[in-house]
Amino acid sequence: MQLPREVIVGNETLELIGTICKRLGFSKSALVVTGPHTRHIAGQRITDLLDDTGIDVNQFVVSSFTVKDVRAVEEKIMELKPQVVLGTGGGTKIDVAKLGSARQVVPFISIPTTASHDGIASCVVSLRGLNKPYSKLAQSPMAIVADINVITQASHRFAASGCGDIMAKFTAVRDWELAHNAKNEYYGEYAASLSLMSAKLVAEHSDIIQPGLEEGVRVLLEALISCGVAMSIAGSSRPCSGSEHLFSHTLDLIAPKPAMHGEQCGVGAIMMAYLHGMDWKRVKETLKKVGAPTTAEELGIEPEHVVKALMQAGVIRPERYTILEEKRLDYDSAEKLAKATGVID
Ligand SMILES: [Zn+2]
Repeated sequence: MQLPREVIVGNETLELIGTICKRLGFSKSALVVTGPHTRHIAGQRITDLLDDTGIDVNQFVVSSFTVKDVRAVEEKIMELKPQVVLGTGGGTKIDVAKLGSARQVVPFISIPTTASHDGIASCVVSLRGLNKPYSKLAQSPMAIVADINVITQASHRFAASGCGDIMAKFTAVRDWELAHNAKNEYYGEYAASLSLMSAKLVAEHSDIIQPGLEEGVRVLLEALISCGVAMSIAGSSRPCSGSEHLFSHTLDLIAPKPAMHGEQCGVGAIMMAYLHGMDWKRVKETLKKVGAPTTAEELGIEPEHVVKALMQAGVIRPERYTILEEKRLDYDSAEKLAKATGVID
């Protein structure tokens, strides 16, 4: 198990970054990976703070999240040989930094500027342009520094998406149990419980996960971080990613303009909960409460693509056994499912 050594969640925690790096033994050099937009939100401040601490710091801006960007980060690491890589931004910049540093065996610190998915704390990444459209093992962050002030200022759409990624845990854990029973797959009760508890807590606190509310951001962040830890404990994305994630990964492949990861997973969770015979209405209500999409229209995706994604989701990752293996959806049953849950009209 590879677990984060420090998790710092609070107001103005960004200011502590120099001290945190030194405490972890990174007092000589660092590379900050950030995006063109997030550079202004946090990237530059982190670079300046590290510089003030006397750390030899370089900054690298990535504008997309493809395999190419990961290679570019790796080349920067080979050239500069930093003691640590700090990834700051929304989920994608963090993923690029996480995978690049993992491939070059350099420790990594995660500094999220949004609470849009659980990749901010997990050991896996999900990038476009990999040979597979789903998550891949990278490394756990050595530390996670989440500044509530910064994250609360981000658009609420990110937090709503983060809630979607959390609602996905209800169905992901059920799929994992199914795989354990049907295929004798390893099932970690501790990792599963941690993931489920996070989903329950977010559902219970959905009334405070609202625009500009710091307490809600804190609940959500703690849930996302706990899910990241659950994956580290399990050594895979299993406790956090099931059939609803397969649905989202398939949409990424076939929809002309996919929505955010967590938004798609949330809608997927509604439909997969229905398939599992779970309380899918509660999932839907929670998503509605926090302002996350619950329909194809709200996702900005054509009903046709939702139906096709439901049909194909069961085959894109054959080794991941889920409810889709048991229910095998054809066009009619997929359409029926999407209609029964109100995802399409
Ligand atoms: Zn996810």
